[in-house]
Amino acid sequence: MNFRYRFLRFPEGKTRAFTMSYDDGCREDVRFSDLITSYGLKCTFNLNSMALHGEDAMKTETVKEKFLDRGHEVAVHGYFHRAPGMITPTELVRDVLESRRELEARFGRIIRGMAYPDSGIRNMFPGNSYEEIKAILQSLGIVYARTLGADNDLFRLPQDFLAWMPTAHQENDAVFEYIDKFLAIDFENAYVANRYPRLFYLWGHGYEFTRREGGWERIEEICKKIAGHPDVWYATNMEIYDYVTAYNSLVFSLESDRIYNPTLYTIWFEIDRKPYKIAPGETLFLA
Ligand SMILES: [Zn+2]
Repeated sequence: MNFRYRFLRFPEGKTRAFTMSYDDGCREDVRFSDLITSYGLKCTFNLNSMALHGEDAMKTETVKEKFLDRGHEVAVHGYFHRAPGMITPTELVRDVLESRRELEARFGRIIRGMAYPDSGIRNMFPGNSYEEIKAILQSLGIVYARTLGADNDLFRLPQDFLAWMPTAHQENDAVFEYIDKFLAIDFENAYVANRYPRLFYLWGHGYEFTRREGGWERIEEICKKIAGHPDVWYATNMEIYDYVTAYNSLVFSLESDRIYNPTLYTIWFEIDRKPYKIAPGETLFLA
């Protein structure tokens, strides 16, 4: 088989995906969910215990009705909202385990996603290491965790899902410029090596919509700009993780001319500009 590159395509062969991640279960999140749902966007809501137990606590029914029933995701954000780089391994175990246990018990879902609280893995105390934090998260069944602090317009899928760097914070001055750039990528005419899929990952906090004048208008403007594009897959963090993981599970012959899909997902990809899809359990023979 003579070809140069094979690239993932998102469901229905789409080249682009858009996802969101909002922290802390702010009271603004319900209105935010109303807004994004009306635009067909998907978000992952990262909830700590303050969001579920504090004075302004979100009711279990509210989370179910306003987030989960609408196809959004709920993920771990640390029971006590403590930065993994600044606590002991034992404290980290407790923070993640308690958070995951509570979310699963309340909402009846399998919860495997996370957003690092506070400075996360950016500020590492002496004796702590990312490798150890990663190993702890893996042993607690966390498969992805969002980090922060390096907004960029590369739109790459993460190399390491446990250090998943978003594209931009909602208040980044460049966010509209980034969206324009993301939507303007010309896959039709792109050089064969540049046809890899692109992901736009937006994150923030609900309270930022009210903290700043014009915050709600700004997020609606973002929604308007990013929504409704037929070539963009709108998905939660976990949907993206699951799909990419399924793609990475494809099995190839030595010559790459036979491809077997052992997963339960229909998977799309392209080889040197030619689109393919492979059904669950199917083996594809390429001429
Ligand atoms: Zn937080």
